[in-house]
Amino acid sequence: MANLLFNHANRSDVQGGEIVELSKRQEQIIEIVKANGPITGENIAEKLNLTRATLRPDLAILTMAGFLEARPRVGYFYTGKTGSELLTEKIKKFKVQDFQQIPVVVREEVSVYDAISTMFLEDVGTLFVVNEKSCLTGVVSRKDLLRASIGQHDLNALDIHIIMTRMPNITVCRKDDLLLEAAKKLIEKQIDGLPVVKDTEDGLHVVGRITKTTITKVFVELATDSAL
Ligand code: ADP
Repeated sequence: MANLLFNHANRSDVQGGEIVELSKRQEQIIEIVKANGPITGENIAEKLNLTRATLRPDLAILTMAGFLEARPRVGYFYTGKTGSELLTEKIKKFKVQDFQQIPVVVREEVSVYDAISTMFLEDVGTLFVVNEKSCLTGVVSRKDLLRASIGQHDLNALDIHIIMTRMPNITVCRKDDLLLEAAKKLIEKQIDGLPVVKDTEDGLHVVGRITKTTITKVFVELATDSAL
């Protein structure tokens, strides 16, 4: 996977278990095909001031390695299939709105006991907390609830707004954000989930959620190439 994901700064590819380092000429051929494809072998040769016969082994290697595809009567075109470029480009187009899941939201006055029940019932690890105007005021995680539970508190008498992480310290994302940016926030802030919010006059409305599970699913689907 690393081969796929990381850019070919020094372009190489695995072929039959062997690493194929591309020659300078092969690199040039790829650039020509990228810019001009589909292009015939003859035309590539012309651009390099070489004969078609001289290029034949290079074209064979590039085609076998998957960098180029040859179509009869059309010519060579750049596939990008084995490089990281297509995959990276694809991932960079993923938007939050295409992957967001339904958020689980509770009111500030809910007790820690009820928040724990909600987490089990809804099968989520993060609850988003809202006020009477349905605006985001906080986040409660599993560990927040564990921490509250190991104290002396009566969990029915303790409201979650006492223990939640509160605005303005909530990290959020919006539906038009790149999924990659949301994933970076999860890593940087070391959190499990982000609320997807919509800006309203009253504050932020929670319209979705992006979690580490969302990102893991995308990763697996990319690798198995299903539907993405
Ligand atoms: P856990 O605490 O169960 O490991 P997290 O890593 O998501 O789960 O949460 C760590 C801390 O960060 C918790 O105190 C939680 O309230 C807080 N937190 C979780 N999500 C966010 C968020 N989107 N913005 C700000 N703080 C968050």
